[in-house]
Amino acid sequence: MTDTTDVVELTRQLIRIRSINPPGDEEECARWLAAYLDSLGFVTNLMSFGQGRFNLVADYIGKGGGKVLAFSGHLDTVPLGSAAWTVDPFAAEIRDGRLYGRGATDMKSGIAAFLVACIESRDALLGTAGVRLLLTGGEETGCDGARALTKSSPDYHEGVGALIVGEPTRNYPCVGHKGALWLKGSAVGVSAHGAMPEAGVNAIYKVMDAIDRLRAFDLIHRHPLMGAASMNVGTIQGGLNVNSVPDQATFEVDFRTVPGMEHQGLRADLAALLGDRVELAPFVDVPPLETSASDPWIQRVFHCCARFVGAIEPKVVPYFTDGSVLAPRSREFPVVVLGPGEPDMMHKTDEYCRVDRLLEGVEVYKSLLSDWVSQSCPAGNASVEEGAVAK
Ligand SMILES: [Zn+2]
Repeated sequence: MTDTTDVVELTRQLIRIRSINPPGDEEECARWLAAYLDSLGFVTNLMSFGQGRFNLVADYIGKGGGKVLAFSGHLDTVPLGSAAWTVDPFAAEIRDGRLYGRGATDMKSGIAAFLVACIESRDALLGTAGVRLLLTGGEETGCDGARALTKSSPDYHEGVGALIVGEPTRNYPCVGHKGALWLKGSAVGVSAHGAMPEAGVNAIYKVMDAIDRLRAFDLIHRHPLMGAASMNVGTIQGGLNVNSVPDQATFEVDFRTVPGMEHQGLRADLAALLGDRVELAPFVDVPPLETSASDPWIQRVFHCCARFVGAIEPKVVPYFTDGSVLAPRSREFPVVVLGPGEPDMMHKTDEYCRVDRLLEGVEVYKSLLSDWVSQSCPAGNASVEEGAVAK
């Protein structure tokens, strides 16, 4: 058992524990972190959501009043990809100020940075309601662990006043992201000999017609920070042999949505558009995430981060996060996406995080914790309560 609070060593340790998804195996990583946090005074709760699949919730419980500050991070990483790495993806080597490995940027560095910041702030946090760490599996395949957590522990957000999602942003605070609705379209036809196509019904033609209609579909929604909603057909499959009329074809389409779009309404519009040509079934469905930049806590986050990254204007991240599943739909608290990883190294061959940004990340989180502590004292409670209500 490492009792290190050295953020670089902790990140290296987490990289050495493989947690590639798919197939998804967060057990060793979650168990290691549970033992580590147990030994440091956290109350931990390991929850399985399948064979080898784990979420970990860890609370550092304070004695004061006010709200809990929550952090979210995912334990899984994407696979290595087909290109060869020039470094060992699990050796966590440091070269020229870069720490290499699968998950280095997305997002074992983020988890290590907020863990160390919380551990080093324990004395001050005792005077508050404390912190809650929501460490999930299965994020990379569509927030599976976060969704399981909302079902297995529906009270996971009880008492939470704000949530920090430690995904890669180079320590720049981002106020949200688009949602994602991924749908699989399936068409059924009637097979026949390819020399007599009039005797069959071609499922590929049905899919082609459906895709043409989707491409002409007007996604009118725009958002001032997120830009336009978008659509991309990513896969298409159909047919078994050239001399048969295919009786089966499928495709997958990825919609990225902005606040103001309800996924249920979008699905109903698409079903009406495509009629009985294809059947559409969702396999990832995460809503957009947005907190107003004028939210009082977000303003304080901007103030804290500006000391490290310079002047701040409201921005969003291009990818989706567990934040959109973990923030309740009633949105009782503000959410910021903020972490030390390099956004342009996510999912790449030779992934790395910068050691200087990792160290800076700990300081950024510590400054947010110190701000939280100062706002949780009795004189500051009123403004915390106001700041926490961002409906
Ligand atoms: Zn991530």
